[in-house]
Amino acid sequence: MDNVLVLRYSEIHLKGKNRAFFENLLKKNILEKLEGLECRAEFTYGRYVICDYAPEIERVIAERLKKVFGLFSLSRAKRVISSADEIFEASKEVAPKSGSFRVTVNRADKTLPYTSVWLAREIGGRLLGYNHTLEVDLHNPDSIIYIDVRDRQTAYVYSGYEYCAGGMPVGSAGRGLTLLSGGIDSPVSTYMMAKRGLKLVALHFWSYPYTSIEARDKVVDLARILSDYTGKMQVLVVPFTKIQEAIHKFAESNYMITLVRRAMMRITEKVADKYHCQCIINGEDLGQVASQTMESITVTNSVIERLPVFRPLIGFDKIDIIELSKKIGTYDVSIKPFEDCCTVFLPDSPVTKPTIRRAEFNESKIEGYDELIDEAVNNLEVFIVPER
Ligand code: ATP
Ligand code: MG
Repeated sequence: MDNVLVLRYSEIHLKGKNRAFFENLLKKNILEKLEGLECRAEFTYGRYVICDYAPEIERVIAERLKKVFGLFSLSRAKRVISSADEIFEASKEVAPKSGSFRVTVNRADKTLPYTSVWLAREIGGRLLGYNHTLEVDLHNPDSIIYIDVRDRQTAYVYSGYEYCAGGMPVGSAGRGLTLLSGGIDSPVSTYMMAKRGLKLVALHFWSYPYTSIEARDKVVDLARILSDYTGKMQVLVVPFTKIQEAIHKFAESNYMITLVRRAMMRITEKVADKYHCQCIINGEDLGQVASQTMESITVTNSVIERLPVFRPLIGFDKIDIIELSKKIGTYDVSIKPFEDCCTVFLPDSPVTKPTIRRAEFNESKIEGYDELIDEAVNNLEVFIVPER
């Protein structure tokens, strides 16, 4: 009798002809996630199974797999030969100590010498004889014992399952460039788009020495946490100091944030081209701060020439974003008090209703603006997470 983990995938069955593409990607992502752990993955039609691991790492494997997008659930199961005796031995192990139960049998191989109904009754009856504190309840049992008979050699026996992250396999929807600040929102927007199958590259604007080494490291830390879900991820750090100083020097102070964000978006689209990303993601949330009013978003967005900008948090309440950031594990790092470049040279009263004309007028006053944008793009620093 082997201990194994049985995995089930989520929406892939909806994908018709592309199913093989999704499945192969999911397999690749599972194998990448299991790197460095001694175990084996078996991928047979409709059943993914992890086996040949030491009992003490079962939890580690399960926790890693629960963060693979595209997996729906997993079960800790016993794998046995498909005889009633063997299946009963396994059922004893997974059965509750007391209370009510039901046995549910799935029999994939219809040439087996017994029917599902017979096997369910047989195992249920034997369990009642084995433990007198158990009782059968077909309609509302405390626990269900699942017997999944694949063929004459293989049956899986388990009770219950744990939910995994759901969503689509990372990489199945293309590549995106995600704007990662050190705040609470952008790690959540990154998570959400990875969940829909985007392979992500992260981009951070860094205004050293106005923002510290720690502020940059914090973003790399956040990316490392996110990489549990996104898989290996490049983190690009753009030197943003010179352009910010130039904006501060030449532009009206109440347009500072607007111009900073437009410069960010210009750089972002160029970097997206360079890194073959097909979309941009940010953590904007309508009305949250001055830079996220309808007018501000319009003026910022207008510098983007080709790519779609996804804002998965646009309709969220802050409280819901915080809850999600706690769930995915980024919250505690996000609230560390390091400054973000958006708060450098912050004016007392930023415009809440900027116009494109006024923004362009201000930009025309900045000496060497285009060169500064190109310089930032050409001098970015690349980190890769996780480092293993
Ligand atoms: P967050 O919590 O993600 O920082 P926020 O509510 O503080 O968001 P802003 O600071 O206005 O909002 O930023 C809006 C979005 O712009 C962020 O969610 C992020 O995607 C992007 N952004 C802001 N600052 C940076 C930065 N320094 N580097 C990369 N992206 C940034
Ligand atoms: Mg921020």
